[in-house]
Amino acid sequence: MKFSVTFLGGVGEIGGNCYLYETENSAIIVDCGLKFFQSEFIGIDFTIPDFRYLERVREKLKGVVITHGHEDHIGALPYFLKFFPLPIYAGSYAIRLIKHKIAQSKYRPKSFNTVADGETIILGDFQINFLEVNHSIPNSFFLIMDVDSKKYIHCGDFRVEKNPLIGKPFPFERLEEYKGDVEALFIDCTNVFNTSTEEEESNLLEKFVDIFKNSKGRVFFTTFSTNISRIKLVLEACKITGRKLLVEGNAFSKNINISRELSYLQIPENLIIPIEKIDYYEPEQLCIIITGCQGEPNSSLFKVAMMERKKLKINPSDTFVFSSTTIPGNEKNINRVINEIYLHNGNVIRGMHISGHATQNHILNVIHTVSPKWTIPIHGEIAHQRLLEKIIYEKKLSNPIFVRNGDKITFSNDEYCISPTPTGTIYIDQRGGFEYDDELFKEKKQLSRDGMIIVFYSKNRVILETFGFRLTDELDIKIKRYINDSMEKLKDITDEDFDLKSTISSLVRRYFKKNFEKRPIVKTITLEDYDEYI
Ligand SMILES: [Zn+2]
Ligand SMILES: [Zn+2]
Repeated sequence: MKFSVTFLGGVGEIGGNCYLYETENSAIIVDCGLKFFQSEFIGIDFTIPDFRYLERVREKLKGVVITHGHEDHIGALPYFLKFFPLPIYAGSYAIRLIKHKIAQSKYRPKSFNTVADGETIILGDFQINFLEVNHSIPNSFFLIMDVDSKKYIHCGDFRVEKNPLIGKPFPFERLEEYKGDVEALFIDCTNVFNTSTEEEESNLLEKFVDIFKNSKGRVFFTTFSTNISRIKLVLEACKITGRKLLVEGNAFSKNINISRELSYLQIPENLIIPIEKIDYYEPEQLCIIITGCQGEPNSSLFKVAMMERKKLKINPSDTFVFSSTTIPGNEKNINRVINEIYLHNGNVIRGMHISGHATQNHILNVIHTVSPKWTIPIHGEIAHQRLLEKIIYEKKLSNPIFVRNGDKITFSNDEYCISPTPTGTIYIDQRGGFEYDDELFKEKKQLSRDGMIIVFYSKNRVILETFGFRLTDELDIKIKRYINDSMEKLKDITDEDFDLKSTISSLVRRYFKKNFEKRPIVKTITLEDYDEYI
């Protein structure tokens, strides 16, 4: 039986994880994530795979299997479900987050199926066993897929912890059972450049307690809202130092509630206070856990930094702790928030963070433990993939395979081959839910870079209207003359296919390209069109 995987997103990039696993008769989707878009591009919030390319496998799709509840693994589900309302299989934490996520959408999966550590499900030719691992969100899984008596392991995001604050220590013994018996291992390589040896979440507690003790005023603490271990540490630091906790931002409220329901957090009564009671406490008795660690505009932290929150105006005794890494693309937003805090004389502490992803040593430990025939680095940019490929090769741990988004690897008869498949990207503007495919996005980029020009044309008069740039009077005259001269030369053409508007548009396009290397969008409206309008 042939077994193949198509990379719809998540390789050569960090974000947008989506993988199609298939045999001749069955197919499953593993993860369905979004990728946050670089913030300097106005009007795009994130991208998702173009799911229309999955039509070819519609009949054999059995379900969506989710490794964990981070946005880069579940964020595209509302869009996916529009095309394929399949059953979803995920851990209890991810199921809660997905339900929240699709609450506003009219598209629903066929069913929600909660899976737990050690559980096995069967989807067509796929027998999938869930193995819980450590990560920066509870309930993260490796998927051990048994297909036609061969094993393939898809690692969701993971890190290796001996003493995790949530969940069990990393399950090396259970992975050991598969040693030498695995065809291919698909492994998270995001943090492969990190060569440190020991990193444990619990090491952060001492640092937080220090900050909480030594800060003269309020402590504003920001991190990823799904990082429940980190929230647990903040609660602990509050208890130790006698600070009350104020929760700012819906994402934190949502995740704290889910964690309480699922017993990941036990919070003593009266530790959390509502904002209405803030004035009952001295500044040094308060910690405010707040959304916006990536500087997201409209997040609570952003509003505080812009001095838009009456009860949370920054003063010189405030300390802002950033307990997070910078997701590529968010540097400008984060710097903007930090500069605003400094403008109002607040104090900033950065770097209080431990990655949710395995370090180089830990990645290699997992590969060594499983000893698969093939290893495919995923969840990384090209530099990460190439580095892991090189190390695996040098240490003779396995046979590494380098892939790009759009590649399809097919394994059969102890060999593999890679073929390209058509894929695409959809760009999402959340205001109004506008979606752009590759073609439209190209136009949007062109508009942003080179602007637009409308030519109003009649035999007696030419008017040029520009958007996004201005013509000097001299250039305006030159272009009009160029159009008139060119049309004069073309006036005797009697070809019935001759299209006046597209001829003028391409003349103007050519003029801009030749003279300025600029490619504005050009539209021509003739007097006849104009007559139709009025
Ligand atoms: Zn991820
Ligand atoms: Zn993750």
